[in-house]
Amino acid sequence: MNETINNNDNVASAKIYHIDIPDTLLKEWQSIVDLISRIAGVRAALIMRVQDGEIEVFVASETKNNPYRLGNKEHLIGSGLYCERVINKGKMLLVPNASKSNEWRNNPDMKYNMKCYLGFPIRLPNGDFFGTICMLDDKENNFSQDMKDFMEKMRNLIEAYLNLLHLSITDQLTGLYNRTYLNIKAAKEIKGADLNKKAITTLLLDIDHFKKINDTFGHLAGDEVLKDFAKIMISSLRSTDTIFRFGGDEFIVLMPDTAISDALIEAENLRLKVENSQIRPDLKITISIGAVERICGESLEHWFMRVDKALYRVKYGGRNQVVP
Ligand code: GH3
Ligand code: MG
Repeated sequence: MNETINNNDNVASAKIYHIDIPDTLLKEWQSIVDLISRIAGVRAALIMRVQDGEIEVFVASETKNNPYRLGNKEHLIGSGLYCERVINKGKMLLVPNASKSNEWRNNPDMKYNMKCYLGFPIRLPNGDFFGTICMLDDKENNFSQDMKDFMEKMRNLIEAYLNLLHLSITDQLTGLYNRTYLNIKAAKEIKGADLNKKAITTLLLDIDHFKKINDTFGHLAGDEVLKDFAKIMISSLRSTDTIFRFGGDEFIVLMPDTAISDALIEAENLRLKVENSQIRPDLKITISIGAVERICGESLEHWFMRVDKALYRVKYGGRNQVVP
């Protein structure tokens, strides 16, 4: 069965939502909320992140009596939180004193007596919501225009960080993550795998005889093939798998919490899907895949060296196969 490829997907925007924020950036954001809470003299300044229907305390000012803890989560829709309103309306919300407002008197933050709120939405480069930046206090406050402008500037700064981060970790051709992000993500995933004694498997994929495609159809057509292949990967693999362009026509997939047996099934499904896809009316491609489960404690370099060898065996053994 031939499958046509959906060219409408914006691959890059599909991926940014789940981006891991590097520690260096988190430190910057920590200093931003600490600064806000000091300047405004409030009990809490927060960066909240929305993901998969939940809103989470992502960065919290290290202020005395800040009741919000990192990782505290709530289901966003119907929560009645100030931040839910900010996200729904997509604009600033100021509540000077919730106890004087019929609308806000019983909102969930009142359990900490946080009657005063000022917050702004934070957007991802694709326009989706990342979350909010906000401050809360137990004293009534109307906040001066300067304070509101200051918060808005801090919000703009965070959005600029997100923009730059996105650019620096994305492959501009395919919209997939690049090698820079592979190093960040893989280091984090193997730490988690060791800590939780979980399996993790990687795939190394390479398009067969890709040079011939460039030579026959031209470099621009080759670019289109790379983009189409990226889309097939996104649609075939699971949302927990992270896909990277390693370079040229080589791609890496990180599969956390996945043993080799399951990874081989995923990889074979993908290989078949690619084989059965009509990339263009006059062109089909095949791919070779090496798959290797990491041994607990194994270094990233050693693990990737083993998957490189597995791919080499596929190429040597005739291509268009998955080899563990
Ligand atoms: P094999 O089956 O052994 O993998 O054969 P191959 O032809 O795919 O071999 P190789 O990996 O050596 O060739 C990859 C080619 O990919 C070489 C390079 O010109 C081309 N390439 C690398 N990056 C790009 C790109 O961004 N766009 C296009 N169109 N071609 C690229
Ligand atoms: Mg190749």
